Amino acid sequence: MKYIFVTGGVVSSLGKGLAAASLGTLLERRGLRVVLQKLDPYLNVDPGTMNPFQHGEVYVLADGAETDLDLGHYERFTNCVLTRSNNLTSGQVYETVLAKERRGDYLGKTVQVIPHITDEIKGRIRELGETSGSDIVITEIGGTTGDIEGLPFLEAIRQFILEVGPENAIIMHVTLVPFIKAAGELKTKPTQQSVAKLREIGLQPQVLICRTEMPLDKEVRQKLSLYCNVPMDAVIEAGDVEHTIYESPLNLQAEGLDSTVCRILRLDTPQPDMTDWSKFVQRVIAPKKRVKVAIVGKYIELQDAYKSIYESLTHAGASHDCGIDLVLVDAEDIEQEGADKYLRGVAGVLVPGGFGDRGVEGKIAAVRYSRESRTPFLGLCLGMQVATIEFARHVCGLEAANSTEFDPATPYPVICILEEQKDVTEKGASMRLGTCPTALGKNTLAHQVYGKSLIMERHRHRYEFNMSYREIMEKRGFVIAGTSPEGDLVELVELSNHPWFIACQYHPEFQSKPNSPHPLFKGFISACLAHED
Ligand code: GLN
Repeated sequence: MKYIFVTGGVVSSLGKGLAAASLGTLLERRGLRVVLQKLDPYLNVDPGTMNPFQHGEVYVLADGAETDLDLGHYERFTNCVLTRSNNLTSGQVYETVLAKERRGDYLGKTVQVIPHITDEIKGRIRELGETSGSDIVITEIGGTTGDIEGLPFLEAIRQFILEVGPENAIIMHVTLVPFIKAAGELKTKPTQQSVAKLREIGLQPQVLICRTEMPLDKEVRQKLSLYCNVPMDAVIEAGDVEHTIYESPLNLQAEGLDSTVCRILRLDTPQPDMTDWSKFVQRVIAPKKRVKVAIVGKYIELQDAYKSIYESLTHAGASHDCGIDLVLVDAEDIEQEGADKYLRGVAGVLVPGGFGDRGVEGKIAAVRYSRESRTPFLGLCLGMQVATIEFARHVCGLEAANSTEFDPATPYPVICILEEQKDVTEKGASMRLGTCPTALGKNTLAHQVYGKSLIMERHRHRYEFNMSYREIMEKRGFVIAGTSPEGDLVELVELSNHPWFIACQYHPEFQSKPNSPHPLFKGFISACLAHED
């Protein structure tokens, strides 16, 4: 078993997660079984209670774990199957250690960061290695070297490397090599200093991933190698990707990252076969056609809030040799100025998930626009709930219909909370989470799109379609196309009088991959192309 630890230096947002995932892609294609893991030094038990401004998207795993969005990169870039043990936070570590202390497991001892917290961290890394049946564990440590909260993790890694031996574990340090315009030079000092910071606590990186806007010349590479104590072939240049993040594994391969890592870890493996990956990247970079798709949300100014949705659209587009021109619309702007102004001319409308009532009326207006103008529509989670509200209000005449999340006193609670959720007062991990089965009705659009009748999709929500309104809505052309196998929960709806209108209660965006786009996104883009014609 080999271990690769990915740390970050100088500044955050250098793309550690992407670098870790890209290395995973390359190693997997060398025939190695890879598993990825993220250690987050914050004290939240999981990111499920943080809002997108704090944390970007919450990525949901099959087992219902609410995790960091880097796990989305891991799943999209590799075949590894992730569970809640692949994302560890300080909050979880402390929660476990404190529970053990209360139970009396450490009776008589003083409970300390070293060894109790560090032992817990090491245990979780080792356990993943042992249970995953993989050859390599890639562990990314959130934050930046020098952060106080990250120290226990780095100390745990120091001890871990001592235990498994330096031939079995390496550190890949992702760092910034800034270009100073006035001097016309790339500067290596910040990297030297962040490596010095690591050395201070007994860690020596073996590989440097140098994020840079300019190519590293030989002199800069020599300097980094000399001062940071890494061999020349381990100084890896990582420029900004030109068009898409999926170029990253190819660029790192060209820089020799995977060969260097395999050399240091003494792994004798063949060159990776990246043919299909390169073809996918080519289709993303230079597609034959383009199509305009609007996303109507409330976090559109944040790059990371709808990450998996953007990626899913890219995957689906590529499968049609089609680039996606995203039209990002703030739902509150629609409330002010009407849907027509923002949505006229788009080939498709997507309403993503969300919580709270801000922007909900704008999303409802976007649904109405799509329904009336017969523009392809894809609603995800809250997107299905607003589609239901819209139909109830404007087609069934149930004025003021709403979700009880937004209007607890609505006369027509077409979306409401489940009985079993009513008494839940805690917020953490208390929603309907993770993979659940959905049965699709024969002769529905969804059945045609998926090509099967039983599907498994990931959930993250509290509110549900209210079955008391089923009959009145179905009479008017609202199609309940997918339900839980028992038939009691509505999972997917369609409109009978519309060329392509699908809204689902679950999150298909968590299961799309570059070369296997999700059927709903693929079908949606195909409908958008047809709509344009
Ligand atoms: N707020 C809604 C609910 O809790 C939708 C959640 C979501 O879109 N993820 O049911």
